[in-house]
Amino acid sequence: MGRRWVDMKRFACGDVVPGCSTSFTCRTDDEILAEVARHAADAHGLEAVPDDVVEAVKAKIVTV
Ligand SMILES: [Zn+2]
Repeated sequence: MGRRWVDMKRFACGDVVPGCSTSFTCRTDDEILAEVARHAADAHGLEAVPDDVVEAVKAKIVTV
């Protein structure tokens, strides 16, 4: 009762990069994409996230 419901967005990198166990939980898609960009550079050596990967990430974001 009286619980404030806040939708969170979750994305698992392994949905796009097989074998990666990193996942992100943020308030918005944009925050997820920012985290993914940072993670892609650190963990996967991607200096920039290509548009098709951004689309793939967006398609895999779930609301939790
Ligand atoms: Zn990853």
